[in-house]
Amino acid sequence: MEGRRPAPLLVGLEWIDAHCVIPDGFRRGRRWRLYDFQFRYLANFYLVRGDARWVPDDPVLGPAFVFRRGLLVESQKKGKSPLTAAHICLEGVGPALFAGWAGRDDGYACADHGCRCGWEFPYEPGDPMGMPWPTPLIQITALSEEQTDNVYDALRPMIELGPLGDLIPKTGEEFIRLPGGGRIDVVTSSAQSRLGQRVTFVPQDEVGLWTASNKMTKVADTQYRGLAGMGGRASLTTNAWDPSENSVAQREFESSALDVYRQFQQPPAHLSYRNKVERRRIHRFVYAEALRDHGGHIDLDSIEAEAADMLERDPAQAERFFGNRIVHGHGAWLPEGLWERTEADVEVPSGAEVTGGFDGSESNDWTAIRLETRDGFRFTPRYGPDRRPTIWDPAQWGGTIPRAEVAAAVDEVFSTFLVRRFYCDPKEWWSEIGEWALEHGDNVVVEWATHRIVAMHQALQRYVVDLTTGRSWHDLCPITRTHVGNCRKLARPGDRYILGKPSEHQKIDAAMADVLCHEAAADMHEAGWQPLKPKSRRAVVLR
Ligand SMILES: [Zn+2]
Repeated sequence: MEGRRPAPLLVGLEWIDAHCVIPDGFRRGRRWRLYDFQFRYLANFYLVRGDARWVPDDPVLGPAFVFRRGLLVESQKKGKSPLTAAHICLEGVGPALFAGWAGRDDGYACADHGCRCGWEFPYEPGDPMGMPWPTPLIQITALSEEQTDNVYDALRPMIELGPLGDLIPKTGEEFIRLPGGGRIDVVTSSAQSRLGQRVTFVPQDEVGLWTASNKMTKVADTQYRGLAGMGGRASLTTNAWDPSENSVAQREFESSALDVYRQFQQPPAHLSYRNKVERRRIHRFVYAEALRDHGGHIDLDSIEAEAADMLERDPAQAERFFGNRIVHGHGAWLPEGLWERTEADVEVPSGAEVTGGFDGSESNDWTAIRLETRDGFRFTPRYGPDRRPTIWDPAQWGGTIPRAEVAAAVDEVFSTFLVRRFYCDPKEWWSEIGEWALEHGDNVVVEWATHRIVAMHQALQRYVVDLTTGRSWHDLCPITRTHVGNCRKLARPGDRYILGKPSEHQKIDAAMADVLCHEAAADMHEAGWQPLKPKSRRAVVLR
């Protein structure tokens, strides 16, 4: 059917509800219910593409799901491990695969799949239907055994104490055999030999600790390759990470890939974790439905006590673990909270007058375009049929910035908006900038070299002052936020500074483009920015 909307594979979520039990605590063995955040995560993980087609001989031919993998960032003890355990049950013996669109009177019956619990799920016509994997191979993967234990220790009783015990009669200490020849294995950094072969589902736990130096980045990539070959998928769970470590979590969160589902709800930025009263508000926000007084399993006071304890030893860690926040190190460029205070969610209409900033690169740094409206709102425009953001990570493009993509984006920016001035750092992009200047005028497209200390220092100062005084503000672009957070002041002679990155992998290019587009706007205002009467506005519908 044409024009069908993506729909979650609800039968899978309902199957969890009917088969998974609470693994521990006083309510052990009772029916396990998904919290809203767990439901939301799985509903997106199992979001079926509207154009998915089921080929009975090869059900995993072509991607049926919208997302290739999921990333869930949640605070300590909120329920990531039981969620992963339930997710494993579903991928092991439940309807985790797309099996076509339901017609009238279609349904899922456990009896057809070797489960004697009697559960049935009637589909609505047009629902995506589900079926189990024929031979599921699941690898629970983490850096250490302690971490895989967290998941495995929730998984075994979840199977043994409920209806799944009938379907999976034996759960071993090391691995679990599944009916039909499938199995669930446990993999850590010390046992990498069995990695990634023919896997159908890989839960990767605590990916905030997976780095190049502990070789887990390689583990992740090997597993993604194995999954791709089988049409399988990975689910990544973690606490908030330390942004100086360039972990797998950070990489997946910051990448511009559109087929990664990311769920990470950070507490309001204006609340300080060091202030006891505000910290309690942060915990209330973060733990929300999981708190006792909302019917959940978390006692707020014990979280407070644990957090206070950790705060004394490692405040950044405490804020990441219990406050669910990415905490930057010392020496950041902008005052704490300034960026978050000046965020706004605004849709800029096509035809709006803007200035632009462009920071180009070749193969190591990123390339970015940012725009600012006449009233001081800066944003990352989107381009092309997929509405991609105009920020390019070379790693996403086979190691080199895709110049044709960038050129297409610049074209679209100029045809969508009325660009009054466009400042470009010329490094490695001289010829393209020359062409854009020819096409749009050299009073509009202007080379602006960011390595000039005096000019750059002045631009940075103007930028911070205008942000502080509310003369300029910006969108919620997560990449720009990260890049701005990465910026460090590098001292230069004459009491001046420029911006630098704290380490090679912590990029700042979107921040540089942001500074350039603001400098262009500030120069326009200085020259008395009078709106042009638009001659002919092209009607472009922005999503
Ligand atoms: Zn059943």
